[in-house]
Order: sequence, then structure tokens, then C-alpha cells
Amino acid sequence: MRFIRFQLKDQSARQGWILDDKIGEVEGDFFGEYRRLKAEIPLEDVRLLAPCQPGKIICVGRNYVDHAKELGNEVPTVPLIFMKPPSSVINPGDAVILPPQSRQVEHEAELVAVIGKRGRNITADQSREYIFGYTIGNDITARDLQKSDGQWTRAKGFDTFCPLGPWIDTDFDAADALITCRVSGQPRQMGSTRDMVFSVGTLVAFVSSVMTLEPGDLIFTGTPAGVGPLLDGDEVTVEIEGLGSLNNLVRKG
Ligand code: ZN
Repeated sequence: MRFIRFQLKDQSARQGWILDDKIGEVEGDFFGEYRRLKAEIPLEDVRLLAPCQPGKIICVGRNYVDHAKELGNEVPTVPLIFMKPPSSVINPGDAVILPPQSRQVEHEAELVAVIGKRGRNITADQSREYIFGYTIGNDITARDLQKSDGQWTRAKGFDTFCPLGPWIDTDFDAADALITCRVSGQPRQMGSTRDMVFSVGTLVAFVSSVMTLEPGDLIFTGTPAGVGPLLDGDEVTVEIEGLGSLNNLVRKG
């Protein structure tokens, strides 16, 4: 099943589900009690929104060996986590705004696990029960500020630095899926989720040993090699095999 949030012309955001090119409303909350209405709204009549409004966005750095190496870093022996603020989230199709403070804004194509159930001290074996599904994210990063600041809140936290969507797929198998990123048609990143240093289950266990996870919280699982600059006028597309693709524009702030 693929769950979405969407907007009909000039109406408020609502939850739904999508089947091929038709959308149905969801009454209630898909993280809890809900009822699916028939999928009969044509996709072209709606605007797809980021599929959830996370309370927390937890990310992991250097979770693919080739990406750690390309930036001259060691592969961590325990997951290296950081957070992006919920205010950085944008919808599919929205523009990433290049802030005047940075001269080097880069894309990071990532698989994102969406938490569906409140939990703390979850084991890797239990993690499947707590993962509602998967979506696609782009962990936009001001690389120059990441290096100069040392800690990453500013570099990762600008408004528009978290493109998310287009849906949450509850049946997606995260074991071995190809992740690619193209910028204005040119291939940039390519990798498989099987090459993660720490598996999704291990990440859920690690993060939940620190903080309680809540429905709608996101875990960004790291990016493969090939990160590179985004420039005014670019179009950036993250695609994950079997999951879909997330497309965003890039504009100067
Ligand atoms: Zn990242």
C-alpha cells in the first residue's frame, strides 16, 4: 500500500492512498485507526504533499563506505547520528532554496524509514513492527558550512533542505534496492541499500536506545557516493528502485 498526503485545489491537506494514477481519501489517521475510501480521484487533480509531518528527523552520516571515502572520512564504528528540523521538509516538486550563507549546497539521495509505532529500546529484530514503511528523501547539505561549523545543525537545517515523498510504501523491501540521483538529467549518485554499513534494523535499535520514536518520525539511512553541487535552475531527482522517484527544483534564495 502507498499512503500519501495531498491537497485538492485550494483545500486543506488530507491523508490518502494511491493506486496507479488514482487517489482515495483516508478517513482517520493511517498511523492509527483509519478507513480507506475508494481510489477514484485522478492523480492529475491533486497536489502531492510530503507524505507525513515528522516530529523528528534523525539522519545517519557516512553509512555507505564509498561516500565516507569520497569526503575523506573514516567509516564510523557506531552510527553517527544528527537531526534535521521538521521545518526543513518540502513537498515533491517544491523548490530547494539555495541560501546566501553557502557556496556549496549538495544533494544526498536517501532511503527513509517511517516509524509507525511509539517505541524505545527497540531491538533490530523487533524493528519491522515499528517501521510503518519507506519513502524517499534528499538530505540537502551546505557542505562548506558542514565543514566550517564542525557540528551540522546549520548545514543540514535550512528551510527547504528536506525534500520528502512522494508516498510511504508499506510493502517496500529495503534489503537490496538501487538508489540513484540525477541532476538536470545527469547521473550523479548510484548505490544499493545492501551496501549500508548499518542496516535499517540496526539504526532503529541504535536511535531508539537514545530517544523514544513516535509515529511519523523519520530515519534517513545515509547516502551512497557521488554527492555533488546543486545550482540555481537545476532539477534534482532521487529514484529508488521499487519505491518511486522524488523530483525537486533548485532556486537561488
Ligand atoms: Zn545524509
